[in-house]
Amino acid sequence: MGSASDPVMRRWLFADQLGPHFLGPADAPGDDGVEPVLLIESQSAFRRRRYHRAKAHLILSALRHRAAELGPRCVYVQAEGYRDAVKAQADNVSVVDPTSYAARRLVRELDADVLPARGFITSQSDFEQWAHGRRQLRQEDFYREARRRTGVLMAGEEPQGGRWNFDSDNRLPPPRGAVTLGLPEPAWPVEDDIDAGVRADLDRWEQEGIAFSGEDGPRRFAVTRAEALAALADFIQHRLPAFGPYEDAALTGDWSMAHSLLSVPMNLGLLDPREVIDAVVSAGDRGDAPLASVEGFVRQVMGWRDYVWHLYWHFGPDYVGTSNALDARVPLPEWFRDLDADAVQARCIATALREVRERGWNHHILRLMVLGNWALQRAYDPREVTEWFTANYVDAYPWVMAANVVGMALHADGGRMASKPYAAGGAYIKRMTDFCGGCAYRPDRRVGDQACPVTAGYWAFIARHADEWRKHPRMAQPVRGLERLADRDELLAQEADRGSQAP
Ligand SMILES: Cc1cc2nc3c(=O)[nH]c(=O)nc-3n(C[C@H](O)[C@H](O)[C@H](O)COP(=O)(O)OP(=O)(O)OC[C@H]3O[C@@H](n4cnc5c(N)ncnc54)[C@H](O)[C@@H]3O)c2cc1C
Repeated sequence: MGSASDPVMRRWLFADQLGPHFLGPADAPGDDGVEPVLLIESQSAFRRRRYHRAKAHLILSALRHRAAELGPRCVYVQAEGYRDAVKAQADNVSVVDPTSYAARRLVRELDADVLPARGFITSQSDFEQWAHGRRQLRQEDFYREARRRTGVLMAGEEPQGGRWNFDSDNRLPPPRGAVTLGLPEPAWPVEDDIDAGVRADLDRWEQEGIAFSGEDGPRRFAVTRAEALAALADFIQHRLPAFGPYEDAALTGDWSMAHSLLSVPMNLGLLDPREVIDAVVSAGDRGDAPLASVEGFVRQVMGWRDYVWHLYWHFGPDYVGTSNALDARVPLPEWFRDLDADAVQARCIATALREVRERGWNHHILRLMVLGNWALQRAYDPREVTEWFTANYVDAYPWVMAANVVGMALHADGGRMASKPYAAGGAYIKRMTDFCGGCAYRPDRRVGDQACPVTAGYWAFIARHADEWRKHPRMAQPVRGLERLADRDELLAQEADRGSQAP
């Protein structure tokens, strides 16, 4: 396309760099003039693993909507891979440093003009400065430092409201007897011709042999800037006030609870996390939401989201492939891999798995304390679990998977990220959800036909690691608890028999 006398320079946007802040020079993000753009839709990415179809839909729909918005200044290429497409379409490309090791290697091999990463609040150099010389990289310390540096929710040197943490106001169980939180249904995006085109293409790809998991139901997540801003406004107006109190609660009949549903648009790069935080803080300043909810949300985005992003780079490219501190080697059973919720009787796991099948999404507590906890208890192989989350979740990317799955859910990094495993038995599920009512199992039963597989699995997990944890500051207590169980031998035999059967 280009020639020596007329060099063609384009901004190459990856599929997770679709908002205005991914255009423009390093010193003025978003201020782009009319910089020509290159967008590439690569089919080979969908051949590499069996993605959830709703995820494929969202990514393709987002790319195609962005191309339509940019109009003639954008070249949109449907290609097998990236390399040839870039070479064919531009003499030179500039690119915001992408979000995975593989993509960062590629842009350097292609000799692109690489600009510093965008789409996060703390820069990589600020993080490394903070991390330097620290023995333990605690999220809470990172988060407080980010609050001080940005001044968000600060009153001078002190946190607004006099406290860093509102956990005592937050993390309530669901209201007694409630089927839903009673909030208005989230405002869903309206599908258009581009979505219809994506559906038709995915049907054709399936006929040609590309396999997907899950269902491609009505699109639930924002794929354009306008939809993303509408989703943010809808969250602030209707769900933010209840976000803090019910952050950790789950109800069978309310899959979104008071969550923001913003991980998809944020991870597609449609919203800048800083604008999201500013909008939420302004709502708090206007008195439209209590400080506990506002702080709880800021903590998730400026704390957790940024923290896992930085850990991805800090822990290095081998973190997922080599971390298996708990020696977990069980391959994913077929029912889990295939999202076969109908094969499962335990209501907590069946509900979470059904939601993944239907939407490629769960809220945090189902990811961590239901499915992650189950995979931890049953010693599923961390690489397989990471692969499973990456393929099946609509908001999953390598950077967000590593620390969340390997570090937080599976404790496979031996405590580099979290000081103890997030392991729990059925009593926790009973307290924080309505799953146990009407379940075939009883959370307080450890053995017998009604033994709760999550409760029994918890004790079997502690037993597997009892020797190494007898003196562990945070795990010695459960080991002592296990040693006091009168039915311990029976429980362990029962769980050994369960193997990889669906619970
Ligand atoms: C095992 C496991 C897998 C996860 N997989 C993903 C994933 O693939 N993609 C993803 O974006 N998040 C992931 N998370 C984090 C979190 O569960 C989701 O961000 C959240 O459920 C998305 O829904 P929401 O936008 O309604 O979030 P809300 O509950 O409304 O939270 C607001 C925002 O905070 C951010 N956030 C909160 N916690 C985290 C976290 N631990 N890591 C990163 N961001 C966080 C997200 O951007 C989220 O949109 C995972 C967590 C666990 C434990």
